[in-house]
Amino acid sequence: MSCKHIFVTGGVVSSLGKGLTAASIGLLLKQRGYKIRMQKLDPYLNVDPGTMSPYQHGEVYVTEDGCETDLDLGHYERFTGIACNKHSNYTTGRIYSDVIARERAGGYLGKTVQVIPHITDEIKSAIRQIEGSDTDIAITEIGGTAGDIESHPYLEAIRQYHQELGPGNALYIHLTLIPYIKAAGEMKTKPSQQSVGILRSIGIVPELLVCRCERSFGQEHRDKLALFCGVRPEHVIEECDVENSIYEVPLDLAKQGVDEKVLKLLDLPVHNLDMSEWNAMLAKLMDENNKEVEIAVVGKYISLRDSYKSIYEALAHGAIAGNVNLKIRMLESEEITPDNVEQKLAGVQGVLVPGGFGIRGVEGKICAIRYARENKIPFFGICLGMQCAVIEFLRNVCGLQDANSTEVEPGAADPVISLLDEQRGITDMGGTMRLGAYPCTLTEGTISAGVYRKSDISERHRHRYEFNPHYRELIEKNGVVIAGKSPDGALVEMIELPEHPWFVACQFHPEFKSTPVKPHPLFASFVAAAASRS
Ligand code: GLN
Repeated sequence: MSCKHIFVTGGVVSSLGKGLTAASIGLLLKQRGYKIRMQKLDPYLNVDPGTMSPYQHGEVYVTEDGCETDLDLGHYERFTGIACNKHSNYTTGRIYSDVIARERAGGYLGKTVQVIPHITDEIKSAIRQIEGSDTDIAITEIGGTAGDIESHPYLEAIRQYHQELGPGNALYIHLTLIPYIKAAGEMKTKPSQQSVGILRSIGIVPELLVCRCERSFGQEHRDKLALFCGVRPEHVIEECDVENSIYEVPLDLAKQGVDEKVLKLLDLPVHNLDMSEWNAMLAKLMDENNKEVEIAVVGKYISLRDSYKSIYEALAHGAIAGNVNLKIRMLESEEITPDNVEQKLAGVQGVLVPGGFGIRGVEGKICAIRYARENKIPFFGICLGMQCAVIEFLRNVCGLQDANSTEVEPGAADPVISLLDEQRGITDMGGTMRLGAYPCTLTEGTISAGVYRKSDISERHRHRYEFNPHYRELIEKNGVVIAGKSPDGALVEMIELPEHPWFVACQFHPEFKSTPVKPHPLFASFVAAAASRS
């Protein structure tokens, strides 16, 4: 069977949860027995989001093959369990650089290179990358909102491709907002009519309308939307705010038969839907007997929830595994000092220090780690979190007061975290870190080896700096166990403190591989350790 395509667009406002909706539909189709692949096309000019601040763009999600990508890919992987790769996220920057490089190489000799057809052809070729023998249905989400100037080439490309594929082989789904106007006491369909109007004016006629809303709307609104947007009433779907968890979204959509409707529109047989694993996960998540656990996340981009998306999700997965209700205390590391750390962390049962870049907030993280270490509060350090734990230990236990990372203090007297030779001399900032999956060998007898239940693991990285091997003997002599190393033994990938109930830090990002139905063992173990502290 040749690959069928679904194109997901968004209207009215951003942040409607287009990625979540696409991921939910992906899960439902997978659970109906189809091989699916997902992809996001982003209309901005950065070649990838790796150089953007988390405040601009939220978390940068890293794929197995080392691409820095949009955080929606995290939803795709968490919902479907299917790994994304370098073809799962394209940006306008990437599309244009490829076209311009080809033009310079003489690839278009004699021609004027133009948005149509050259940029649109390049976009279609990006979409084709996720077709193939292992894909029955390819789902492509277009970033941005209908009407944005920069989305135009993408919409034109999907219009062309939809037409080339022909009826029954491709489907447009448009996600829109039905706002509730309090003063009028009414839900309004006009913004949706207008956003569908924009799409229709460029030749895209959405076949399925998914309507985000605070509360359910009645038949009258459904009929009105159907009439004005040119969609059949049964193809107007409600996606109301969920009560407890985003993982309820697929079930809400399934109740309205979205997956069945999609398959019918794509001329595909409707096999049975098996949501047993997902339902069991949700039952654990919502179990009323779960006791509460509070974990502090000490970061520098705390005010934007999306900055630590995968961390919060992986903690939630750990809570599902441990049958606990998770409460997260988000703490701005810059505000933590030796004078207030006790009060800031009062009552938490675990402390997590996530990754980060730059100088701001590092001292606050070190301060929180010291408190967790000395007071035997379960501590989980990830990437910069591990680097800060190393600095803290060398300063406060080994007596090297000037221990620091050369990222923070280039001339540090004791550069305990520093650049490896292969990173020295690199001046380009985009895509030049240690990125993607690397193998790691665990040390027998450690918490890590125990929870992974194997000694050879693979985890995803995104960092430039490393533990400086010169200080390895000193920390080991003082009680740190190197719990994970690169297979050649050269790089320290994990550390633990056996004298502490749960003190584990890793140079990689385990949060990227956790899913609600397969919680990451480190997160599950950390949350369990925190729960046993209450
Ligand atoms: N800034 C640190 C480095 O580049 C840590 C990166 C991270 O936490 N992702 O090594």
